[in-house]
Amino acid sequence: MAHLWVHASGSDGGQATPDDWSLMPLDTDTFIIPGPGSAQLLRRTAPEGDAWILIGSPAAHVNGNPLDAGIRVLRDRDELRVDGHRTFFSTETLATVASFPGGDRAVFCPRCKLQIAPESAAVRCPRCGVWHHQSEELPCWTYAERCTLCDQASRLDAGFGWTPEDL
Ligand SMILES: [Zn+2]
Ligand SMILES: [Zn+2]
Repeated sequence: MAHLWVHASGSDGGQATPDDWSLMPLDTDTFIIPGPGSAQLLRRTAPEGDAWILIGSPAAHVNGNPLDAGIRVLRDRDELRVDGHRTFFSTETLATVASFPGGDRAVFCPRCKLQIAPESAAVRCPRCGVWHHQSEELPCWTYAERCTLCDQASRLDAGFGWTPEDL
């Protein structure tokens, strides 16, 4: 799920400290950005995944550029600035165990090479999107420290890999 990193201190001009960043999940279809400015995010659902669109006045900035057209499709790690309030948009999601939804064709686990049965416990890598078994018999996702195909950490309680502290 996409989310926003919102800074607690707002526009008081103080030096930002990492502890002041808090996370707001984008779990609704519209989201008003906190602060005095009138800017909002709208979800656009698409087969390849949801997109988020920022609508605001030209005074709002994305990555330092004014929102001339008043509308913009957001990308991972975009910096939003509305009336001096900094907010970061992130599409990163955490690995969680879910029921494998199945599909039109067989899906094979990249770790053990066996097929993943529909409705069996599995983890979809949040970075590369590939499914792995994750049951007591086949703990394929957590078998190694990282995803079989990318460098996503496989710990199920791993936090977000990117936060505004990385700036
Ligand atoms: Zn497996
Ligand atoms: Zn991966």
